[in-house]
Amino acid sequence: SYRKGGYHAVRIGDPFSGGRYIAQRKLGWGQFSTVWLAFDTQSSSYVALKIQKSAQQFAQAALHEIEFLSAAADGDLQNTKCVVRLIDHFKHAGPNGQHLCMVLEFLGDSLLRLIRYNRYKGLKMDKVREICRCVLTGLDYLHRELGMIHSDLKPENILLCSTIDPAKDPVRSGLTPLLEKPEGNANGGGGSSTMNLIEKKLKRRAKRAVAKISERRVSMVGGEASSKTERSLDGIDMRCKVVDFGNACWADKQFAEEIQTRQYRAPEVILKSGYSFSVDMWSFGCTAFELVTGDMLFAPKEGNGYGEDEDHLALMMELLGKMPRKIAIGGARSKDYFDRHGDLKRIRRLKYWPLDRLLVDKYKLPEAEAKEFAEFLSPVLEFAPEKRPTAQQCLEHPWMNNVVSTQNSAADNVESQVRNLKIKG
Ligand code: ADP
Ligand code: MG
Repeated sequence: SYRKGGYHAVRIGDPFSGGRYIAQRKLGWGQFSTVWLAFDTQSSSYVALKIQKSAQQFAQAALHEIEFLSAAADGDLQNTKCVVRLIDHFKHAGPNGQHLCMVLEFLGDSLLRLIRYNRYKGLKMDKVREICRCVLTGLDYLHRELGMIHSDLKPENILLCSTIDPAKDPVRSGLTPLLEKPEGNANGGGGSSTMNLIEKKLKRRAKRAVAKISERRVSMVGGEASSKTERSLDGIDMRCKVVDFGNACWADKQFAEEIQTRQYRAPEVILKSGYSFSVDMWSFGCTAFELVTGDMLFAPKEGNGYGEDEDHLALMMELLGKMPRKIAIGGARSKDYFDRHGDLKRIRRLKYWPLDRLLVDKYKLPEAEAKEFAEFLSPVLEFAPEKRPTAQQCLEHPWMNNVVSTQNSAADNVESQVRNLKIKG
């Protein structure tokens, strides 16, 4: 990909924008870009430099992203709304062509790396809550104040806010500073020298997820035996920001019918029934589940006689119950998957496993914790888009504000006081 129209090869120390920015080390990459840590000589601070591939369609995509990032920055002068800040942008001429470059505030690891670092075991509920608060703050801002749909929300596109000064951090090639290297997994992703590696990883991850799902279809009992040792995330600040506006759109001016990354895609997108802000809420729900359990909520795959889309719809119904007929048959693509009764055409026997039970039986969450979390999450995963709560409503939910848990711990306190009294007495 480092050829004409492709990525721009960068060496440490390379100057950008007339020498204002000096490349330090690679932070990560996406389909269209490589992202570098750079030193901004004007502000004497570190920034992330996103260097787009040079071909016309990538330049177009970068201009699109700049439009949305600029709008987000303009409405958030205090930089408190949990969306990555665009600092500057410019063109850079290299041997492979003209590259559009975005200068972004420097952030830390993605939630995907956090999940991986935690060995796919899932995070503690309080950590998840902190992350959800940030993501919902970001979504509420995008939706309500800007009229913008992100359209590609997922753990990879949510980055932790880095609290560490990269200057003081030892240069560990390709690792962002927040998390240490996971043992036995030397290339945590996002920064090793070959592109193949990350693709292989994604494939492995998809395979893993698929294995989980078939496991779920085959046997309905038992969680995973966990011989893995605990990794502490104590002391790591869970503040984070939403990034990657390459697929964002205005609610009243949409560009694409097929949006979102497969596993985080809302049912109305699959069925082509039209979409709005609530597609981000669906992706948010999938992401929150993944943070709690370490597993993707839905990892569809094509099977004998049915495609990925139909499997995806089946997985949704196994978790959330049968899709209301009106919704099932209401989309432009409905006839491909559903018969006129609203039953799937090719996948006939569904194995229902509701969310609260799944959390307890498979993921071994305590009953009360599972119930509270499922009560928060279930409405977000409503089949009817208009019934899903908004980001603002989610922020006000008791689970977000830990009301239920606080009551529990208050009760626990009373109980332990009573116990103490009894002992003393
Ligand atoms: P793409 O649109 O090509 O997917 P992203 O904006 O998602 O690009 O960035 C690709 C990767 O670069 C991210 O997953 C992350 O690892 C890293 N990255 C992006 N923005 C930043 C940032 N502001 N600070 C630190 N790392 C970043
Ligand atoms: Mg991305």
